[in-house]
Amino acid sequence: MIAASHIAELMTFETPVSSVVSLFLEVADHSLPSRSFRRLVAEASERKLALGAEHEEDLARIESFLAEPLPSDCRGLAVFSSRRFGLWRPCKLSLPVRDRLSVGTRPRMGPVLSVASHFQRYGVVLADAAKARFVEYFMGRAAECGGMTARESSSAGSGLQAFVKACGRAVERVSVGRLWDRVVLAAPPPLLGLLAGRLRAGPTQILDADPGLLSDADVSVVRERLREREGWDRRSREAGQIERLLQTAVAGGPAVIGLSAVLSALERGMVRILFVRDGFARMGRLCGSCGALSLTSGRCLACGHPTAVVFNVVEEMIQRAIDRGCGVVRLLHQGPLDPPVRVAAELAAPS
Ligand SMILES: [Zn+2]
Repeated sequence: MIAASHIAELMTFETPVSSVVSLFLEVADHSLPSRSFRRLVAEASERKLALGAEHEEDLARIESFLAEPLPSDCRGLAVFSSRRFGLWRPCKLSLPVRDRLSVGTRPRMGPVLSVASHFQRYGVVLADAAKARFVEYFMGRAAECGGMTARESSSAGSGLQAFVKACGRAVERVSVGRLWDRVVLAAPPPLLGLLAGRLRAGPTQILDADPGLLSDADVSVVRERLREREGWDRRSREAGQIERLLQTAVAGGPAVIGLSAVLSALERGMVRILFVRDGFARMGRLCGSCGALSLTSGRCLACGHPTAVVFNVVEEMIQRAIDRGCGVVRLLHQGPLDPPVRVAAELAAPS
């Protein structure tokens, strides 16, 4: 699992010389990550990318990592390696990223941050009157992250109230630096209500209850339960986002709907947040001179030069938006609208 602390570590990692290899690979049914990796390395030497003898060990350990089996829900990989300065962080991602290899003084974080922004971090508290366990869930992965027993809480007094108080303190301790967006509470009544009251008084995470989850549930059971919950949470969040965007567009506000309008807004540097239905693909054109993306025109609408076919203009557009620092939201669920919105953008307010 990619912990919040891993992201914080990568964000601040910097080397005095160009030593950090950043690799991104899409993992699709038909693709072999190691074959794509070798192609990227070959292309890198053609592009005279600063991959020297000092990166050989990085490339070798990436190659052996890519030979390991991947979980079935893994759709992308990001790997950061600087053997010389002690960095090794492979990340399995639940959304695709575009194949890319680069070397620099810092990890290239844009694609990872963009994928991570699609997922909320959940802390799960599984309690009964004798003990509590804590599990973290993020991007389809779940891991135990501590626990406590009623006996350990005896310093706070005896009885249920003392246990609740100690459990609340333990949750606060374990959640430090974990950046949980939501806390899911699983406990039998009346403990559930007491714990909810105690945790609600704490920091501002959103609190949900799941009385159906047992305190000794296996981590794999917790993961499946959280996957389901994450699906509901996301479905309602996406529906709200698109509804607001459509209202803005209808009212003549800063929003555009449809691939052609969004591409043109992106080329003019006007996009703030890009919304794309996951899996949507279209062929398009790329200008060989200024690099503008378009849908069908044989000549560039911006500079008049000839354009070449790009296999999937939607992925090119997403990558460009990430590179320019725009927000990207992949819509993983069918929206409530018919026809569904497949591409839309919130624009920067005119200055
Ligand atoms: Zn052009």
